[in-house]
Order: sequence, then structure tokens, then C-alpha cells
Amino acid sequence: MSLFADFPEGVVETDAMLAPLTWFQLGGRADFLVRPQNDEQLSTVLHRCRESDVPVRVLGLGANILVPDDGVRGVVLRLDAPCFSSITIDRETLIAGGGADMTTIVKRCVREGLAGLEQLAGIPGTVGGGIAMNCGGKYGDISTAVSQVDAVRQNGERESLTRSDLGFSYRESKIGDRVVTRVQFALHTTDAAELRSRFRETWDYKHSTQPSFGALSVGCIFRNPNGDSAGRLIDSAGLKGYRIGSAFVSEQHANFAMADRGGNATDVRKLIDSVQNRVEDFCGIRLVPEVKLW
Ligand SMILES: Cc1cc2nc3c(=O)[nH]c(=O)nc-3n(C[C@H](O)[C@H](O)[C@H](O)COP(=O)(O)OP(=O)(O)OC[C@H]3O[C@@H](n4cnc5c(N)ncnc54)[C@H](O)[C@@H]3O)c2cc1C
Repeated sequence: MSLFADFPEGVVETDAMLAPLTWFQLGGRADFLVRPQNDEQLSTVLHRCRESDVPVRVLGLGANILVPDDGVRGVVLRLDAPCFSSITIDRETLIAGGGADMTTIVKRCVREGLAGLEQLAGIPGTVGGGIAMNCGGKYGDISTAVSQVDAVRQNGERESLTRSDLGFSYRESKIGDRVVTRVQFALHTTDAAELRSRFRETWDYKHSTQPSFGALSVGCIFRNPNGDSAGRLIDSAGLKGYRIGSAFVSEQHANFAMADRGGNATDVRKLIDSVQNRVEDFCGIRLVPEVKLW
């Protein structure tokens, strides 16, 4: 495609399958899957897409995204090149690429006795996805350890943001349509044995309250409404195990939508809409999806 004709081989894939890149393993293709190899290439992609009105999305580990069966138009960016997935630690400062794997980071910090990210044990995803979603749970979220975020705007300009610029709140940040390229975390040295036990407690809690990691899901489908739990409402509405085609509500955790292997995204989308309507009919609360519906 002429927009990226001058890019090195391997950076741009046309008509690319997205399903294998998501936790749901569902959904169609992207017109272009672009894997920039450095900051300059990333800025160029964004700038050219902006000039040509081509939509751009960013895919992390796809742990919180549902791709529709007919795919998405335009460009999907994936920051899995070494430049965007490396991790460096200098005393109590950790700098990670936007595409770096959070689980690897959390485990490494625990091994090195560095506290600040252990509350994220068992949450799959990349650093960029974690910042966009302010991922976290019962034990805290990612925002508390963030000191600086480097990002690229849709016009290709780079900028650095502080934690307060990002206005983190429950499962949200103000990253908007910027692409996170690097994040600096401020950690603190602590007793390694005590850190390991906190990590283990969080990990065990997650694994005892949600479907196994091998199952096809994207974590919680809906945000918790103020002062309540989406899972409790779905359960009270009698929807555990509720099924539409290849998609169903988990018996173990009612806020998890699951998919059969070989299923399709259309069923999952129908299930999400139906659960939303049924819960509203049941208690008058309209649940808001946490999962990003592309
Ligand atoms: C089994 C399971 C358990 C889960 N448990 C939890 C949990 O306890 N708590 C929790 O908060 N979440 C949970 N999740 C959801 C998911 O792990 C988080 O939302 C995670 O932060 C998503 O990261 P990702 O890289 O996969 O992002 P993706 O799913 O790929 O993308 C999510 C959003 O982030 C954006 N994004 C991705 N990368 C970037 C980037 N570099 N720059 C800008 N935007 C970007 C995407 O465009 C999209 O809008 C769970 C998911 C699964 C499958």
C-alpha cells in the first residue's frame, strides 16, 4: 500500500488476522497491522494516517478488546518491537516500553525486592494497555507507581506526561488517543520475602475468583457501578451460565463473558448487549462495558 511503501519489509502486514493477537482469539482482520521498529517510524505512521484520514487503533496483548467478526478498517498498531518492549531497572526506577509485558515486569520486580507493582499480579497485558485502562483490582492499580509516561499524539508529535496529567481514575486514564511508548515507574526497595508473600496472596486471590487463564475471556466485561459490583448484579439477575450461541456468562465469576473455542465475536457481542439489557430490566442499572468493543 502506497502509504507505507517505503517501510522495511515485515513492518506492515495487510489484511492481517487479529484473533490470534487477542485473549478472546476471536474477530476478523485489520486492513493493516503495523509494527513500528522505532519512535520515528511510529510518528511517521501516525502522521501519515492523520493526513490521509486513516483510522488508527493500538493493540496491546488484546486482554481487554473484542474485535468484531468483520474486523476493523485502517491501521492497528502493535508495539512488540524491542524498542517498545524493553525493560530497564536502575535502582528504584523502572522504565518499560509501552509494549512490554506487565506480568514479566511484576514478576521481575518481586524477584528483585522492588515494591510498587505487585498489586497487579495475575493481570495480563502490556504497559500501554495498563496505562490506558488503569488496570488493577482489590489490591490497587497501576497508577500509584507511575511517575512519567512518554506518548505520541495522533499527529505524530511526542510528549511526556506526568501522573497528574493522566488523571487516573477507576479503570480509566486521560491518555485519550495517544500511543504510550514508554513508562517510568517509581518503586521502592522492600523486604523480599514479605513482597513475595503479598504477590502470592494477590495471585492466589485472582486465580480462586476467576475462570482459569486458559479459558477464552477478557476479564471483567462491565465496570462496577458506584457502590456495587457488576458481577453481583449479573448473578442476582440469574445470568450465571446464560448462553448465546458460542458465548456464555462464566459460572465462576458472573462478570466474565466466555467464548467456546471456534466461537465468534458476534455471539459475544450479543451476549454483552443482552446481559446489559437484562440487568437493567432486573434492577434499573445500565452496566457500562469495561471491555473495549472495536
Ligand atoms: C483473565 C483476565 C483477567 C483480567 N483481570 C483484570 C483485572 O483484575 N484488573 C484489570 O484492570 N483488568 C483485568 N483484565 C483486563 C486486562 O488485563 C487489562 O485491561 C489490561 O490492562 C489490558 O492490557 P492490554 O495490553 O491487553 O490492552 P488491550 O486489551 O490490547 O487494549 C486495551 C485498551 O488499551 C489501549 N492500548 C493498548 N496499548 C496501548 C498503548 N501502547 N498506548 C495507548 N493505548 C493502548 C487499547 O487501544 C485499548 O483501548 C483481565 C483480562 C483477562 C483476560
